Amino acid sequence: MDRQQILELYHWTSGTCFRHPGQGEVSTAHVKTIRPAAGGIQDIRACTECVVGMEEQRKAAAEGAGLPYRPGIPPGE
Ligand SMILES: [Zn+2]
Repeated sequence: MDRQQILELYHWTSGTCFRHPGQGEVSTAHVKTIRPAAGGIQDIRACTECVVGMEEQRKAAAEGAGLPYRPGIPPGE
């Protein structure tokens, strides 16, 4: 699976990457929703570089655990 195929699994809109806030508005995908203890909901968005990096880590973790690798956002996240 190449980079473009992975990116096509995500829905891209303009936003701020959680790891690169200094970049300002870039093309980002929603990767996680967290519920802070203080209440409310916070959406975590990542830029293309971060999404590809996260998928590479997920692939390595799946292979290390002997599990099948499925790119994209797991159900429920
Ligand atoms: Zn980023």
